[in-house]
Amino acid sequence: MSWDFETEPEFQKQLDWIEQFVRAEVEPLDYLLESPYDVLDPKRNALVRPLQAEVRKHKLWACHLEPDLGGQGYGQVKLALMNEILGRSRFAPTVFGCQAPDSGNAEILAKYGTPEQKKQFLDPLLKNEIVSCFSMTEPQGGADPKVFTTHAELRGDNWVINGEKWFSSNARWASFLIAMVVTDPDAPPYQRLSMFIVPANAPGVKIERNVGVGQEPEGAGAHAYVRYSDVQVPKDHLLGTRGSGFVVAQTRLGGGRIHHAMRTIGQVRKAFDQMCERVLSRTTQGSRLADKQMVQEKIADSWIDIEQFRLLVLRTAWRIDRYKDYLKVRKDIAAVKAQMPKVFHDVAVRALQIHGSLGVTPEMPFVDQVMESFVMGLADGPTEVHKITLARQILRDYRGTDGLFPTGHIPSLREAAIKKYADRVEHEVASQ
Ligand SMILES: Cc1cc2nc3c(=O)[nH]c(=O)nc-3n(C[C@H](O)[C@H](O)[C@H](O)COP(=O)(O)OP(=O)(O)OC[C@H]3O[C@@H](n4cnc5c(N)ncnc54)[C@H](O)[C@@H]3O)c2cc1C
Repeated sequence: MSWDFETEPEFQKQLDWIEQFVRAEVEPLDYLLESPYDVLDPKRNALVRPLQAEVRKHKLWACHLEPDLGGQGYGQVKLALMNEILGRSRFAPTVFGCQAPDSGNAEILAKYGTPEQKKQFLDPLLKNEIVSCFSMTEPQGGADPKVFTTHAELRGDNWVINGEKWFSSNARWASFLIAMVVTDPDAPPYQRLSMFIVPANAPGVKIERNVGVGQEPEGAGAHAYVRYSDVQVPKDHLLGTRGSGFVVAQTRLGGGRIHHAMRTIGQVRKAFDQMCERVLSRTTQGSRLADKQMVQEKIADSWIDIEQFRLLVLRTAWRIDRYKDYLKVRKDIAAVKAQMPKVFHDVAVRALQIHGSLGVTPEMPFVDQVMESFVMGLADGPTEVHKITLARQILRDYRGTDGLFPTGHIPSLREAAIKKYADRVEHEVASQ
């Protein structure tokens, strides 16, 4: 029987080091630099590269990867404990070599790339010399990949890609895109799409504009509207077999979603810490905010929300380690993904409210966090879709009843109970 909530002392020492390193060295970068993904920014590289070297020295680089790819082969529970610290900072995942979407794209390349592609794309990606993009969503629909129309045709030794993709994050800095496109329009819906490596400098790849979120200035965001016009890629740039786009996508999405949730705990805790500090510092009508019952309720509700979510994430991480099969944990991952935006939203909104007028200004992070909580409810699939998955998975373990009344119908249960014990009751009464 093993069922505990303790961290091994040796690993705790590493977590302690990560925590102080992130707070002291990495978090300041969030207020100084533009994008963690802009590998051509000399200011970014001057500050990020030495910190990455320090992380490597501590053997904490790309811990999600197996040792043959330069990582530590950490299981998901260890990653959860680590990522919930990294989530505090925008730059921390890059400093520790585990930033999305590169981490997921690396998994795809490691699994399906040829030796030559691994040398050309995977090796520099793992070293963060380059960054990458995952290009799947289309303007006419993201939640339903069956409506995708961007397509590739095999002409001689090349695939020729045409179409449009939407919200291809980081395409503006990426050296290559992993694009999911239709190759077999007449096949059953989930066998129509294939995955390709598309070098960003291939003729015909054009970023129409970089879309932002929230108050980001128009055209200055990180999410590209990409047009593919007669883009030619060699035959071997097909990742996995023809028509296996959904299978290949699952390689990255399962792990990606749970890692995102782990980091979200860090972000939410940061908002919560700020809320707690504020209520102890601010006085109104003769007493601290901390002494007002409606404020106390916000603190209590937030703590409960965070701890419940954290336990769900850790349990899911544990189940991934235990079963090593994402299909067996689909339900858990869907639940985590559906709950993540809600917890973040609710805590960020309370933190904003507690900070009064200061809370709604860009001088505090809460407005961005509220916006980020909405992003979490969309990126990697909308909450509704994950709830549908969750409900379907749950209902597989239940059966309907043929009877007129449900099995919990009390008069029916009472009647059955009377029948079951009638003899004994009669005997008992008779012998009195
Ligand atoms: C910040 C950010 C980064 C992103 N990065 C990437 C990326 O790098 N690569 C990439 O390919 N995509 C990316 N996306 C796109 C993301 O995956 C899609 O936005 C998402 O899949 C939803 O697709 P959509 O926006 O087209 O919404 P739609 O499919 O139009 O859905 C709109 C809304 O309809 C409702 N809805 C949809 N389906 C159902 C249903 N079955 N039942 C009930 N209600 C439903 C939901 O409320 C949903 O939000 C990113 C999105 C964001 C916001």
